Amino acid sequence: MDIKKLVEKYKGENYELHRKYLNPFFVKVLGIIGFDVVYVRGEGPWLYDVDGNRYLDFLSGYGVFSLGRNHPVVKAALVEVLEMDRPNLVQMDCPLLAGILAERLVQVAQRSFPGLDAVFFTNSGTEAVEGALKFARAATGKPRFLHLEHSFHGLTLGSLSVNGDAYFREGFGELLPGTAIPMNDLDALERELKRGDVACFIAEPIQGKGVYVPDDDFLPGAQRLCHKYGALFILDEVQTGFGRTGKFFCGEHWGLSPDIVTVAKALSGGYAPVGAVITRRKIHRKVFRSLERAVVHSNTFGMNELAMAAGIATLEAIEEEGLVERAAELGERFMGGLKRLREKHQMVTDVRGKGLMLGIEFGPPRSLKLKAGWKSVEAVKRGLFAQLIVMGLMREFRLLTQVSAHGVNIIKFLPPLVVGEAEIDYALEALDGVLSAAHHFPGGIWGLAKDLVKGALGA
Ligand code: PMP
Repeated sequence: MDIKKLVEKYKGENYELHRKYLNPFFVKVLGIIGFDVVYVRGEGPWLYDVDGNRYLDFLSGYGVFSLGRNHPVVKAALVEVLEMDRPNLVQMDCPLLAGILAERLVQVAQRSFPGLDAVFFTNSGTEAVEGALKFARAATGKPRFLHLEHSFHGLTLGSLSVNGDAYFREGFGELLPGTAIPMNDLDALERELKRGDVACFIAEPIQGKGVYVPDDDFLPGAQRLCHKYGALFILDEVQTGFGRTGKFFCGEHWGLSPDIVTVAKALSGGYAPVGAVITRRKIHRKVFRSLERAVVHSNTFGMNELAMAAGIATLEAIEEEGLVERAAELGERFMGGLKRLREKHQMVTDVRGKGLMLGIEFGPPRSLKLKAGWKSVEAVKRGLFAQLIVMGLMREFRLLTQVSAHGVNIIKFLPPLVVGEAEIDYALEALDGVLSAAHHFPGGIWGLAKDLVKGALGA
């Protein structure tokens, strides 16, 4: 077996293999928007394609690569673990590395949220949310879940039941009893809690889909109401955790004290699937409450050695490199630049976020000519303008970003926390360049819309 040779032999066949054996519609989408690049290497915030071109990654694998790609400290830990021939996944034992990572997670969690002292490991974000929902039912004996409009907590059926976007929910049948609350509407939340059947209210402290940031009094108020009515308050920090927003956990921005925190994504430095439910022992004991029920919730791979070693190394690297503080500082620089763009470009209607989780929203421009362009692309598909900007950033500047949710004109930026000022400035210049080009209609990025429609009709 020679993986290097295999990779060399199949080089460039990525999209054809996926078209044949995986998801042909996704392959088509990538082609249409000009994202069908053959990447062959990643280092820090950079990706390299088969022709040696360099791309700046402000998508970070949906927030996984806070440390950048192939971080040497995490890589070394993994190589060491492999060389030690460890007794992985014995199952009927207590694996050491899981114990060490749990201890470290509790230490860091307690700095943000005193009282969290018990951990359950999972293989993904959605599995952590599934666990949290089960824990909430076990702890309260109540059936219903409350979540926010626009929420995203993963796409398995439990997590889908607390999803706030019809796009993801439709077509998958009946879900668990859940009710969506508008962000910042404490009255609506209280009305639902008052019914007395609520197990928990789950929220992302900053929403990944749309980069919506709650008003300062909302989450503290929600926490208070949950406790008043005997429901658990769950913070989903899968995307916002581990320094992303300039605090170790995003809930610190509001001094929150959640009953359960879910984490995943950045915890393993992008090397291995991982996730965790972090909670209070009292709640954990409601699930694992007797000898008979000692394994009533579990999984096969949750405590695997690679994920655990990567997690330990990642926490060390975050600390060692001061990445939380760095995210706060660079976030301010980035936000300052975005605000200047809002002044300069009439189609920028809002910029928001915290640390290095930032969003830019577009709306109809004021000038008549541009308004005509805006109307014509939005008539094709809502949110298309933001997609054109994302395409322009990729095509002209090799900057990788994403439209933040379906049918919205919002772009999200999730740069690795290891970027420097130069990369932030480059991204701002790229945005300025593409937005400046959008002041000329027709032509420029507006022309890309035609390619998009042509490509889509051919699908
Ligand atoms: N919760 C949040 C807040 C997320 O952002 C995500 C992933 N985007 C998930 C849960 C689901 O994580 P995973 O994709 O690992 O299942």
